[in-house]
Amino acid sequence: EAAREILERVEERSDNRLGVEAMGLLEAYGIPMPDSEIVDSPEDAREVAERIEGDVVMKIVSPDILHKSDIGGVKVGVADEEVPDAFEDLITRARNYQPDANLLGVQVQEMSDLDAGTETIVGMNRDPQFGPLMMFGLGGIFVEVLEDTTFRVAPLSEPEAREMTEEIKTAPLLRGARGRDPADVDGIVETIQRLSQLVADFPAIMEFDINPLVATPDGVDAVDIRLTVD
Ligand code: ADP
Ligand code: MG
Repeated sequence: EAAREILERVEERSDNRLGVEAMGLLEAYGIPMPDSEIVDSPEDAREVAERIEGDVVMKIVSPDILHKSDIGGVKVGVADEEVPDAFEDLITRARNYQPDANLLGVQVQEMSDLDAGTETIVGMNRDPQFGPLMMFGLGGIFVEVLEDTTFRVAPLSEPEAREMTEEIKTAPLLRGARGRDPADVDGIVETIQRLSQLVADFPAIMEFDINPLVATPDGVDAVDIRLTVD
């Protein structure tokens, strides 16, 4: 129900591309995300940062800026006292990039443990011939460099989703290569299945990417999302 309302609101908008403002969709489907809030003032940003323990990540939220780090719209490891300045700086960068950009605010987000975790990507592209094509691969900078991805037509059974995590070339990384603790592969498998259910329930969703889905030994975190609605 919550998911339906979110998508109905999008359909009333002129643009059809969504970013972190669609977090409610993942929430409705039980896909874990780092704690975060979208704020519209430096004071609120600081308040949220103080509530979230440790340093935070801050990101510009705008349907006109979907590749946030390309314009310097992502600040990682921000300490509480730096938060108000970081807020102003993100808004300035967005305005410089596109003066008439529709700015929805700034997301203040809990840090995921990238040292202990692996950045993966879980996505869907609706293929005119095959229907919803689920994708899994290594995320972050590696997704372009290694092109280590695998595809399956949704809906996916649990064994099919698990196969996806086993057949990429870098699968050993997830299983704990070089003395690292293994990532929560069950969490990845569940996320692939939940996303495949989400896109099956909403045929209007044409593309959906979780990039990165950070997989640590303790669980998974959908850190960034992007989707296109018909
Ligand atoms: P975009 O893809 O629009 O540039 P992301 O939200 O994916 O923006 O952020 C870019 C990169 O910053 C991520 O791939 C990740 O490496 C890092 N990052 C973003 N959010 C977090 C977070 N909560 N914890 C740790 N690293 C993060
Ligand atoms: Mg991203």
